[in-house]
Amino acid sequence: MSVKKPPVEEVLEAELVYVTMPSDRQTGAFIEFVKDKSGISNVKLKLTQDKSLGGGFILRFGAHEFDWSTSGRVGQLKDKFARRLQHPLKHDENVINILQEEILDFEVQIQSKESGFISWLGDGIAILDGVDHAMYGEVLIFENGTKGMVMNITRDKVGCILFGREENLRVGTKAMRTRERAGVPVGDRFLGRVVDALGAPIDGQGPIKSRETRPIEQPAPGIIDRKSVNEPMETGILAIDSMFPIGKGQRELIIGDRQTGKTSIAIDTIINQRNNDVVCIYVAIGQKASTVAKIVNTLKRNDAMKETIVVSATASDSAPLQYVAPYSGTAMAEYFMNKGRDVLIIYDDLSKHAVAYRSISLLLGRPPGREAFPGDVFYLHSRLLERSSRLSDDFGGGSITALPIIETQAGDLSAYIPTNVISITDGQIFLESDLFFEGQRPAVNVGLSVSRVGGAAQSGAMKKAAGSLRIDLAQYREMAVFTQFASDLDKTTQDQLKQGRVLMEILKQPLEHPLTMEEQVVTLLAANSKLLMDLEPAEVKPFQMDMLKYIQEKHEELYQDLTKRRTLGGNLGERIIEAVKEFMAFREAEAKAAEEEKKQAEKQAAEAEKKDAEEKKKQASEGGK
Ligand code: ATP
Ligand code: MG
Repeated sequence: MSVKKPPVEEVLEAELVYVTMPSDRQTGAFIEFVKDKSGISNVKLKLTQDKSLGGGFILRFGAHEFDWSTSGRVGQLKDKFARRLQHPLKHDENVINILQEEILDFEVQIQSKESGFISWLGDGIAILDGVDHAMYGEVLIFENGTKGMVMNITRDKVGCILFGREENLRVGTKAMRTRERAGVPVGDRFLGRVVDALGAPIDGQGPIKSRETRPIEQPAPGIIDRKSVNEPMETGILAIDSMFPIGKGQRELIIGDRQTGKTSIAIDTIINQRNNDVVCIYVAIGQKASTVAKIVNTLKRNDAMKETIVVSATASDSAPLQYVAPYSGTAMAEYFMNKGRDVLIIYDDLSKHAVAYRSISLLLGRPPGREAFPGDVFYLHSRLLERSSRLSDDFGGGSITALPIIETQAGDLSAYIPTNVISITDGQIFLESDLFFEGQRPAVNVGLSVSRVGGAAQSGAMKKAAGSLRIDLAQYREMAVFTQFASDLDKTTQDQLKQGRVLMEILKQPLEHPLTMEEQVVTLLAANSKLLMDLEPAEVKPFQMDMLKYIQEKHEELYQDLTKRRTLGGNLGERIIEAVKEFMAFREAEAKAAEEEKKQAEKQAAEAEKKDAEEKKKQASEGGK
């Protein structure tokens, strides 16, 4: 059964805006034009005068607007210039030449400026009638200047996420197509700044000048454009660099329950890049504004903010802004990667990102799937993380290393979003609540963490020094459980337990104290040589710090050799062990001297006391006489 009404009954109202009254012949031509475009034969033309057009006409009907006016043409020329000058000039270009070229090439485009009207509005989403030819990802602009992006297209409706406030929007508000894809401003001036999901500054330090914008959605580099991972991206965290090394261009997931130190690992990694010429981008998604402020302060305090951009869509921002934030951050990262620089980007966290996407999708009427997430939530994250890569030298050799963060519920790695992101990334650092509360911080679970490609980027010295650390730790954890209640253990088992305890202590690391590769190698060599086995657990950390300081002061050449060679060749390993032994002897001598001093002091005190007592006795006996 057809519901279409016969076209003869429809009357189409069109409006013609003019400066000089059109002749009858012109009016007739306009009516013919409308009939032709709309397919409706009964057209009523309303005439309105508007002198501000300067000349020409504007014709509006349905969702269409055709602009033949002088002001429209000037506007088109202006847009064309603006678009051309948005891109930075190449060295052999100058502005005058470009403008000349653009004017000579200029042709007026008479095309319909399609518009539509809001038919439903709420929670950062608008559903529109009209804008029939809008494309996926296109920016729409509303009457009040608010912008939105097309996210859903059905036969007769267009769903759009809003980038601004909804306050002045209502059902019936007009929206215009822009034919542009959503983008964010990018540039060097963003370094050291805090911006919102659309790149607008929110740190109160004034506007950011930028001439370039990049689309927020961009295809990932192709296979040919990429190079394999072979340079380390050092986190400065011993537990990670030694066992789960990360390479530039890698995607390593940080996963764990709430409050297990996920953000801290990311922030310490940024702090470790302060002298490494790496651009860092921290994307905060759905976090408290106060948490973000604290992070910015930590970075500033550690002098790590100058090469960092913080992109923040807090919990109070709308779901669309939280959804867009990681893509905006990645667009900014790509700007630097394409200039040949290394970038580290942190998405904190993608669980909240998935939740924002779920609420948008449900409002747009997409069918919910597992855990009520839409079916394409896997694609959402793979499309984002695939953009992190290492470019080949032909493309400048830049890289983006991504550290996405995922929050699990009660350590459940097999939930929908965690399994998705685990399968997209090149490995994961799994943080465990139990370890965290035992005081083992960072709480890296050695058994469940892995880095699939970073080994290729680890320095030879580190690889050698780390040795069988991972296996030793795994064995220790297992044995510790089994021997919990055993009373008499054989010597080998006792030694293994002692050594395991030392290794666990060595891997503890306070916040904001990244270790250099050299310090990590020395620490690992000392621990793995079993020299520290007889230390009490509480003594291990102070021992490590004193040892590193001692070697820095007395054997600086060892650190220098390590920096230069990056391997333990030419008996460097043995020399380091010697230095450690020397420190142990020094420490023992110092302890002995301290002991001696203490004994001496005690002896003196005892003697003084004895003298005192005798004196008193004497006085008493004299008094008695
Ligand atoms: P959330 O789930 O709330 O985002 P999170 O997993 O990101 O938490 P953090 O905020 O990084 O965890 O850390 C939680 C707390 O643990 C913080 O107070 C932090 O100072 C502390 N913490 C984290 N790592 C360490 C560490 N290595 N040493 C000491 N304290 C730490
Ligand atoms: Mg956190």
